[in-house]
Amino acid sequence: MVARKFGTGEKVKPASIYTMFLRIFEHARTEWKALITALTCIILISMLEFVVPQLTKYTIDTVIEQKLFNQLFYIGAGIIGAALLLGLLRYLSTSVMAAIGQKVLYRLRNDLYRHLQRLDVAYYDRNRTGDLMSRVTNDVSVLQQLISSSMMQLFTDVFTFTAIAVYMMFMDWKLTLMLLATFPFMILTTRVFGKRIRSSFRKVQESLADVSDHLQNTLTGIRMIKSFTAEEYESGRFSERTQRNMDANVQVTRLRAAYEPIIDFINFVGLAIVLVFGAWLAMKETMTVGTIVAFIAYLRLLQNPVRHFSRILNSIQQAAAAYERIVEVMNTEPEITDKPGAVELPSMKGHIQFRDVTFSYSGNRDGEVLSEFELELQPGEVTALVGSSGSGKTTIAHLITRFYEVGEGSITIDGYDVRDVKLDSLREQIGIVTQDIVLFNGSIGENIRYGNQNATDEEVMAAAKAAHAAEFIESFKEGYDTQIGERGVKLSGGQKQRLSIARALLKNPKMIILDEATASLDTESEQMIQTALAELLNGRTCLVIAHRLSTIQQANSIYVLENGRIEEHGTHTSLLARGGRYSELYDMQFPVANGH
Ligand code: ADP
Ligand code: MG
Repeated sequence: MVARKFGTGEKVKPASIYTMFLRIFEHARTEWKALITALTCIILISMLEFVVPQLTKYTIDTVIEQKLFNQLFYIGAGIIGAALLLGLLRYLSTSVMAAIGQKVLYRLRNDLYRHLQRLDVAYYDRNRTGDLMSRVTNDVSVLQQLISSSMMQLFTDVFTFTAIAVYMMFMDWKLTLMLLATFPFMILTTRVFGKRIRSSFRKVQESLADVSDHLQNTLTGIRMIKSFTAEEYESGRFSERTQRNMDANVQVTRLRAAYEPIIDFINFVGLAIVLVFGAWLAMKETMTVGTIVAFIAYLRLLQNPVRHFSRILNSIQQAAAAYERIVEVMNTEPEITDKPGAVELPSMKGHIQFRDVTFSYSGNRDGEVLSEFELELQPGEVTALVGSSGSGKTTIAHLITRFYEVGEGSITIDGYDVRDVKLDSLREQIGIVTQDIVLFNGSIGENIRYGNQNATDEEVMAAAKAAHAAEFIESFKEGYDTQIGERGVKLSGGQKQRLSIARALLKNPKMIILDEATASLDTESEQMIQTALAELLNGRTCLVIAHRLSTIQQANSIYVLENGRIEEHGTHTSLLARGGRYSELYDMQFPVANGH
């Protein structure tokens, strides 16, 4: 069976239950002391299971038969003592296994998150955020439940089952073999249902991911929904998704509802065999009544694990479905990584050259964003890139930082191919300020310090000052400790932009990329940001991508991009004089000022 890798169209083999357990034990390996404690408890528990049937047999065959009144006290005490010990051992093993489960969960979740952090930007283009979130939360939880509760039950049952089956063989092997003849039917039923239950569980988890994805999308976009008065529409779409989840759950319940009675039925057949054949043996006096009673007591004990097993099996199938979804992420390796032998990019001067670069997001020829593209940035200079939206400007920025890999051709920085240097040494030297500013929940100070975790408070303040942000920050009651985001103050677009400039200044990169950094600002705050940006650009190699031509008039050279090709390049004055695409764009933006 081949499952479709959700959202990517790639094929993956479903992880087998065997590898799932292997992986769990790998994670639980350091907990070996706890594991041994739990296993010891489990073995003792299965041995204690013998006490009641053995005492019953002894009572019937010996105590009653020989009227041993003085033994009755010990029998009662024995059963109560065994019950107490059993309770204690169950408590111990359950709590120990639960703790192991939580630890494995903790590690798995952290591993998964760390792995997600390593994955390429392109991976996030292919996968939905809510779906990935669901893998880290829901799917990992399902796996933890397996370890904390079901695995403990599974171990107990396997031990109990084996011990009792072996003992029953010694008691009466013929009767036991007849009983065991019913087991192939159970295994068959289990296999048939197991596969279906697992694929239904996969649907449950996938639809849960859909729910999570929808939530993530619409709750963050609530303003947009309200502005389009689309509340009802979105509620409808949400209920479609929750309904799919409900349907999948109903399907699982139906399968379980059918599976358990079948197992019960087979168990009853076993009981009938023992009763009929045992009674026949007793009547022929080759077996004592006590033995038959004990045998039936053992049979009940033997059937307990089998009955539990249907529950455990559900839990295992559910965990396997969840595990597959986790493995899909873990088995995806980032394609953009340090090559073996990658070198540190030395302190950048900033000579950047695109040679014959061809690139498409899909990786194939059609849909090429850049073809045979050439561009050269001079060290310490400001190079501007203009062009209509969709012409490939942001793509060029993403290729310099190696968020994506070029298809053909090469990009070099001071003669180093970006593919040959260590990623960190490349990205550490480039600062990007974009139109959409990402600030994280936390304080203003923490957000600026993102530029350099080791910066002192003075450095943070100096950066804020240079970015013309200090003034508004200090106007807040809590200053740099002011919380922003979900639980804190809301900042205006211009304030956010100045914070992001402060953050970039603190990073102190060798190269700066401004990707339409001022596109969404009003003219008033733009003035202030222009001066802050001038500070940021000062003395660095800069690539300024701009929609507004007013921001790039001072650039050393300007490239005009159309459909992934440079149409013309020069300075502001030379391009205006040329009267080509640039002057066309300029005329469109400044219809009054076209006095050239
Ligand atoms: P610009 O920044 O000039 O507006 P972009 O570089 O963002 O243009 O986009 C260039 C082209 O690449 C557009 O056709 C756009 O649809 C496509 N594109 C941009 N980002 C992606 C992406 N992550 N996946 C697929 N296609 C993309
Ligand atoms: Mg863009």
